[in-house]
Formats: sequence, structure tokens, C-alpha cells
Amino acid sequence: MPEPAPSPVIPGEVLLHICCGPCATWPVRQLREAGSRPVGFWYNPNVHPYREYMLRLQSCRAMAAAVGLPLEVRDDYALRDYLTRVLPFGAGPERCSECYRIRLEATARKAQEIGLGAISTTLLVSPYQQHERLAAVARQVAAECGLSFVYQDWRAGFRQGRVESRALGLYHQGYCGCVFSEFERYAPGDKRPVREGRS
Ligand code: SF4
Repeated sequence: MPEPAPSPVIPGEVLLHICCGPCATWPVRQLREAGSRPVGFWYNPNVHPYREYMLRLQSCRAMAAAVGLPLEVRDDYALRDYLTRVLPFGAGPERCSECYRIRLEATARKAQEIGLGAISTTLLVSPYQQHERLAAVARQVAAECGLSFVYQDWRAGFRQGRVESRALGLYHQGYCGCVFSEFERYAPGDKRPVREGRS
């Protein structure tokens, strides 16, 4: 997958999809330092089980309050819809592509609804995501919706973001989100499916 090029211009306003509070700290700071006014957007029906979802949402709200980030929350926990879309892809990397697409499509729709012309995602800070795949999906979704996608490789700030989010007392999760990732994180190695890349 080709290496994405960073966006040469950071727009004044960006709807920033937030996967969790800890991952948001670094991208929010970077966008602000580039002169942008990010608005956060929570939509993560991929997170299982529901109690884990609630912990992450609370952490996201706490982060937003701590750093003064305007936050839009879409809290319909569309478990069945989510599974219907990702299950056909099984254990392969395409499952994550569809998972990214679900969340970024919702982000693009929210951006259109509130009149913002650009989207991005805090998933770009995580070294555990399939970075190039994620950037390609996000760029495609934004283009389909007539929006721009703000791409920055924020991974160098992942550790610093963790330090800052611990100082804020935010909850830190142990796995990506879906039940498959929970299994892949905690099951003994001989039970895990063979996968391309890590999530
Ligand atoms: S591993 Fe993460 S990105 Fe991949 S499908 Fe599961 S929650 Fe989504």
C-alpha cells in the first residue's frame, strides 16, 4: 500500500473522529498548533463489550472537558449493523478496512451536517492500526462526500500522548475494540488466526 503524503494545508476547522480519549490528546494539540480548531466526534460501534464502550466514551468526554475540545457524540450503539458489515470479512485485514469505513462515513456525514469541510481521525496516532490502509479508506470516504481528509502521521507522538493522558487520569484500554481484537490480544498464541499486520 503506498505511503500517504501529509496534507500540505491544515484547514481552520476539522471534524476529528475520536477513537478514544488517550489517542486524542496528541492530534488535538498538533491540529491546534497548526492553527486549526478541531471539533471532536465520537462514533465507535466497534467497541465490545458494551461496558468497555461506556468506559471509552466516558474517557473521551473527560479528555474533551480537560482540553476544552468541542465534542459531538453519536451514541447509538449500532452493534447489529456493525457486525452485519464486518462479519463477511472474517479475520483478514479487510475487516479493519470496513470498520474504518463505518466510522469515517459517520464522521463525514456529521461534518456535512454541521457544515465542516474536512475530516480526520485520531486512529492515525496509533502504531497498532493498519496506518496506510486507514489513510486510504479515510481519503476515499472524504472524497466520496466532497470533503477533504487531513492526513498527518501522528504516530511519533503516540508515547507522549499516553504520558499526557495518564496525567489526566484517562482510562487506557488493552485492545483495539471489536471482540476479535479482544480475542487476538488475550488468547494464547496458538488459538489466534494468522493475520496480515496488527490492529
Ligand atoms: S481490530 Fe480494531 S480496526 Fe480492526 S475491526 Fe476490530 S476494532 Fe476495527
